[in-house]
Amino acid sequence: MTTPGDSVLAAAQASSKAAPWPAYVTASVAWHAGAGVLAIAAPASWPWAVAAIAANHAALTAGGLWPRSRWLGSNWIRLPADAAARHEIAITIDDGPDPAVTPAVLDLLDEHGAKATFFCIGAEARSHPILCREIVARGHSVQNHSDSHSVRFSLLGPKGMAREIAAAQESLADIVGEAPRFFRAPAGLRNPFLAPVLQRLELQLVSWTRRGFDTVKRVPADVLARLARNLAAGDILLAHDGNAARSADGSAVLLTVLPQLLVRARALGLSAVTLPAASQRGSGCDPAVRPEARSASA
Ligand SMILES: [Zn+2]
Repeated sequence: MTTPGDSVLAAAQASSKAAPWPAYVTASVAWHAGAGVLAIAAPASWPWAVAAIAANHAALTAGGLWPRSRWLGSNWIRLPADAAARHEIAITIDDGPDPAVTPAVLDLLDEHGAKATFFCIGAEARSHPILCREIVARGHSVQNHSDSHSVRFSLLGPKGMAREIAAAQESLADIVGEAPRFFRAPAGLRNPFLAPVLQRLELQLVSWTRRGFDTVKRVPADVLARLARNLAAGDILLAHDGNAARSADGSAVLLTVLPQLLVRARALGLSAVTLPAASQRGSGCDPAVRPEARSASA
């Protein structure tokens, strides 16, 4: 019996030889080997060798638990320099699609002429495929946020991670007609096995510049203050349509925050664009790029 991710997973495994480990992980392997050689060459030093290995494991774990770290491989915490030069920001909206929230988010984005990137959960996308297609039809982008959003994602081994990401990749590509190019780990947590999987599936890891904590914070003004603090070109902002905290009036916090955030962005001359639009090259002086960037943010 085949699962949704089998064909993507097979392709990923077929090209696994090409995927190098991040430099920090390679250095960690060398560190382990060095500690082993030390313990053999000078047996009395074995406590130091064990301590060296323990320190290295602690550092690798910290790198995985710190969403904005780059120790475990490439990780966007800001947009590329060209996007910043074009005065672009990216609003990323996670954990949907959610039929109770996403349609209202789409209407607000339309009202303010803004585009956003929706990091969708594969299982949610399969439950609400029409909503996924609506996101794309209205000029936004759907990207990969794992298949089940498991709280144990960062504890998975390489095969488990590949299965989670490939299943979402295949479902989202089937539903919206275009394979995602960006991945965000559930809660931003990961481990050293993630980077080679993303490389095989040709996905760029994206975290964020700032997050609003809008799955737990129920006061819209607090969430807005977090997201809009030092708002500047190149920022990647994280908010939620799925798993969203509800404000006093019972609506998702983002629905109050988003219009005010977009007004502030516009006052600063910033355009909210999708991640694929932001990844295009060109400084904004290039007439071949600027009109497209403008229309993407119109
Ligand atoms: Zn999430």
